[in-house]
Amino acid sequence: MAATRRYGIIVLCLTTCMTLHAQNPHKDDVLEGVPSGKTRVIDLSYAINEKLVPWPGDTRWFEAKVNATVEKNGYFTRSFWMLEHYGTHLDAPIHFPPGKMTVDEIPARKLFGPAVVLDARAESAKDADYQVPAARVEAWEKRHGQIPEGAIVLLRTGWASRWPDAQRYRNQDAQGRMHFPGYSVEVAKLLIERKVSGLGCDTMSVDYGASEDFAVHRAVLGAGLYQLENLADMSGLPETGAFLVVAPIKLEGGSGGAVRVFALLP
Ligand SMILES: [Zn+2]
Repeated sequence: MAATRRYGIIVLCLTTCMTLHAQNPHKDDVLEGVPSGKTRVIDLSYAINEKLVPWPGDTRWFEAKVNATVEKNGYFTRSFWMLEHYGTHLDAPIHFPPGKMTVDEIPARKLFGPAVVLDARAESAKDADYQVPAARVEAWEKRHGQIPEGAIVLLRTGWASRWPDAQRYRNQDAQGRMHFPGYSVEVAKLLIERKVSGLGCDTMSVDYGASEDFAVHRAVLGAGLYQLENLADMSGLPETGAFLVVAPIKLEGGSGGAVRVFALLP
């Protein structure tokens, strides 16, 4: 091979590498782009107040009291009381047997991961008892490749559009049974096999509303994963490509608690 031709190939390789790098910025750039606004941040948590939708049967869910005012004390503080499972919250494994870990014990590295969005809006609009089948995960993997270890899976049913209208969000029948979509147990088991860190949804529960045995809760929490419930509108999320930051309250011994969830979009 002539020296000039070899030189030409090296230059071509370098140029190609540099172009590829510019087109596929390193993942670190996603975080670096946050302050400048280059990376979009979608907040998937609802603001907490007394008007959110509690689980049926709960009689007391949130109270805030002013302790000090600027007028009286020169500064402003409040105290508040709330359920661990209210508004956008995280279920720690200990919430259902045989899960063990409390919310403060979840390893920090499990709270960061690529988002896998399973879209079930069309099916949920037609059938409020819809349970996402394994075929939906298989279809996602056909398009985007196998769900990576450490991913956080989000089920998008469109139910967030009903929030915070308790009647429409819970969708209870005459017997008081709720009707909203959720994960099927077979999907939960498949996602556990894929070693994802957590499962989330834009409804009150990862189990469908009419569930009586909470089979998804038992499987997911029993396997040491966490759950995110009452997530806000996910319509701005792509099926793949967003990165999630999950920041639950570090409540010692807690079965779960309020969580701030951010989706970062490069
Ligand atoms: Zn919960």
